[in-house]
Formats: sequence, structure tokens, C-alpha cells
Amino acid sequence: MATRVGLTAAQDAARRGFEEFARTRIAPFADEWDRESALPEEFITEFAERGHLGGAIPTEHGGAGLDETTLGLLCEETGRACSSVRSLITVHGMVSRAVARWGSTGQREHWLPRLARGATIGAFALSEPGAGSDVKALAATARRDGDGFVLTGEKRWTTFGQRADLFLLFARLDDRETAFLVPADSAGLTVRPVESVLGTRASMLGELSLVECRVPGAALLGRPGFGLVAVAADALELGRYTVAWGCVGLLQACLDATLAHAENRETFGARLRDHQLVQRMIADMATAASAARLLCQQAGLLREAGDQQGVHATWMAKYFASTSAFKAAADAVQAHGAQGCAGDHPVQRYLRDAKVMEIIEGATELQQTTIADTAYQARAMAAAGKGAGA
Ligand SMILES: Cc1cc2nc3c(=O)[nH]c(=O)nc-3n(C[C@H](O)[C@H](O)[C@H](O)COP(=O)(O)OP(=O)(O)OC[C@H]3O[C@@H](n4cnc5c(N)ncnc54)[C@H](O)[C@@H]3O)c2cc1C
Repeated sequence: MATRVGLTAAQDAARRGFEEFARTRIAPFADEWDRESALPEEFITEFAERGHLGGAIPTEHGGAGLDETTLGLLCEETGRACSSVRSLITVHGMVSRAVARWGSTGQREHWLPRLARGATIGAFALSEPGAGSDVKALAATARRDGDGFVLTGEKRWTTFGQRADLFLLFARLDDRETAFLVPADSAGLTVRPVESVLGTRASMLGELSLVECRVPGAALLGRPGFGLVAVAADALELGRYTVAWGCVGLLQACLDATLAHAENRETFGARLRDHQLVQRMIADMATAASAARLLCQQAGLLREAGDQQGVHATWMAKYFASTSAFKAAADAVQAHGAQGCAGDHPVQRYLRDAKVMEIIEGATELQQTTIADTAYQARAMAAAGKGAGA
């Protein structure tokens, strides 16, 4: 039982519901979905019917309107069972929040109820062959054509790209980075599956090709030039936050699996749990899970309060949770020995998924440089007598 502090009774009740659903309806199937590189349609429908795809959408638009902590708990419990399902919450949530925050009244009224009930699945299409960490290298273009736009370019690594009905897609309009809502059935848009990905294998990645892809004027989301600095930045912040919580779930899963295995496996006349070097692995996993959970809760509270410090707190939470999850997953495989290397054992899936977490939503090195820069800014402000330190 993980230590929990600071949850309201309603948040804790919600968490128990998420945990029960993930334990019974996701975890038993996660390895099969990973092998098949897809989530079954029936599962996506069931997940949507429970309202889990509408977590980031306000209730007035048909969503569950979860507070930031409860949304995090949904990601934790889902991520504990299957990182691919957590990825669905992440990218669908990024699109939903972007429409809710930057959409016109017409866009909100059209898309949000559909996204909330899962009738429309959203995906986030920013990365390109030449633009990953360096998003400003974005090369896809948009040009005006009558009352609409024509899009041209290539998108890579779009999570649920094979399944999505709607892409939040970024392109240069008059050389200004701009966000568009592009339906998957738009003429000139084709999607190819990405095969054999290292981790989150059931997240149905797609590569998008846009050749003279015409979309109506209503596809423009927010103002031209606001695509990266506002729409993508805000969406990526939510993505980072949900991934951080998903990594708490991964940490807990590594701990759960290692505790169970070390209890039963004997070497040299003793259970693994009685070997001190295995105890060290378990102690590190348990401590990291608690610490990552607290960093995520801190980020959630700051985000909920609309506090600017929530941005930095989210970077820290994602950095710590993802790097700790990778270390814990490596230790979990180690403690399982050869059994942990078997293709159908969950801990090898955790290890593959955890590596992906160190790359998506800001690679570890970008988080390190950003966190260090912010620490220097805080120091300069403190020296100038303007605020607290880092
Ligand atoms: C499973 C998966 C799912 C994804 N889903 C999506 C999605 O839904 N939508 C989407 O748009 N994209 C998605 N991506 C792409 C993801 O956002 C990028 O992989 C990520 O931004 C890193 O970009 P890159 O792969 O081009 O690496 P690069 O930018 O080429 O960087 C490679 C490595 O170089 C190092 N590095 C780069 N810049 C610096 C620097 N300034 N300082 C120090 N080190 C640096 C880091 O170690 C980094 O990992 C996904 C990727 C994966 C693997």
C-alpha cells in the first residue's frame, strides 16, 4: 500500500475506482496489447464510456472536468497497468485541452462533446523528420486557399496516429508557427503505421504525410504565430504532467512485481528478499515512487491554482519520475533475472516503456538544462530581493 498524503476523500475514492478498473480491465491484457501493437476497439469504447477520455474536458462540454490531482491519479493508476493506455489519455487530453483553451466557441461546441465521449479520438502531430526536441525547426507549411488552408509536410511519431480521428497539427503559415485541427479523413492526408517501436507498443504510432491537404478555415486553432509559444507549449505542459504521473504508476508496478518475485524466489538457501543487495533495489524503488508521487502532487496543486511555478514543478516531476522509472525498471528486470528477460514478462515491458518516458515530452537532457537555468534565475531573483530561491 503506497503512502498517500494530501488527497481529499473524493480524490482518494476516485483513485480507488481507477485502481480497480486498471487492475481488472487493463493490467491482465497489457502484455497481449503490447504484442499485438494495438489497443482493441472494444477497450477504447469501454474506457470512453467510463468517462476516462473526458478527464481534461470541462463538464459544461460533456467532460469529467477532473481537477489536476485527480487527472494525475487516473494517469498513475492507468500507467501502473499499461503505459500505452496512459499515452491515450495524454495525447487525447492534449488535443482536448487545446480546443478548450484556444478554440473559438464554434470549435469548442463542435469538438469537445465528441472528444469527451470518445466519438472523436485526438492525437498530437508536432514532431517531424527534422524537428523533435528543436520544435522551432518545424518545416510543414500552410497556405491560404480561398476560405481554407492547404497543408504540406511530414509528421513523425504521432501517438495513436493510426487510430485518431482528429490531429492537432502544427505548420508554418506565412512563416508563422500555427496550430490546425485536421480531421484524419481530410483529402491529401495519409497515415502509415510505425512498426516495432521500443516501448508503448500498443500506442498505435503513425507517420503522417500531407500532400496539398485542404482544410476549411475553421481548422485554424488560435492565432497564426501562436502555434508553438501558446498552443503547443500549453499542450506539452499537460502532456509532461500526465507522463510524470504515468511514471509514478510505472515505479509502483516495478515495486509490486519485485516485491512479489523476491518473496518467492530462493537462491543460495535464502529468499531474494533476504539478500541485502536486493533489499537495496526495493528500498530505492519504494523511495523513488513516494518522492515522484509527491513531486507530481506538488505540480498538480500549483497547476490547479494557476500558479506559474507549476510549469517548473512539472518539469521537475517529469524529470525525476521518468529517470527513476527507468532505473527502477532496470532493477526490476535485474531482480527477476532471466525470468525478467522473457518476452511475455511485464517487467521487460516496463523497461522498454520507461526508456520512452525519458525521451517524450522533453528529453531528459532538455529537462536538466531547463531545471538548471531556472535554478540560476531563482538565484538571481533572490539576490535582487525579488523572491524565493529555487
Ligand atoms: C514512443 C514515442 C511516442 C511519441 N509520440 C509523439 C506524439 O504523439 N507527437 C509528437 O509530436 N511527437 C511524438 N514523439 C516524438 C518525441 O516528441 C520526440 O522523439 C522528442 O521530442 C525528441 O525528439 P527527437 O526524437 O527528434 O530527438 P532529437 O531532438 O534528435 O534529440 C536526440 C537526443 O539528443 C539529446 N539532445 C537533443 N537536444 C539537446 C540539447 N539541447 N541539449 C542536450 N541534449 C540534447 C537528447 O538526449 C535527445 O534525446 C514520440 C516519440 C516516441 C519515441
